[in-house]
Amino acid sequence: MENPDLLAVLVKSLYEKRDILQGELASLPIETPELASEQPEIIEQAREKERQLALITENAIQNYKILWASITPSDRLPCPLCFVFDGEKSPIIPLNAIGNTEPVKCTACKEKFYIHRKK
Ligand SMILES: [Zn+2]
Repeated sequence: MENPDLLAVLVKSLYEKRDILQGELASLPIETPELASEQPEIIEQAREKERQLALITENAIQNYKILWASITPSDRLPCPLCFVFDGEKSPIIPLNAIGNTEPVKCTACKEKFYIHRKK
């Protein structure tokens, strides 16, 4: 596994997650008070997504890159989402390759990241 490629994929996943969260927040019916009062979990979901969205900053991404630069080969690679959202260094583990794609998975949040191997 080539670490620079993997780092690029993991950092990209943070930007993608930001886009996904923005889309999900826009689609939640939180502006409809009667619906929201029937489904308090929608408000819960929205709060958590807003919390996560606010945490994906350039600063946080920079901190993740700094963390990455400080790890040694014997360290386990930290999940970008767990680090940015919760300050956790959850290890990501490699899964079986699918063709030219090498998936890795976070052991804590179960998010998967896909690294495309160059031919
Ligand atoms: Zn994670």
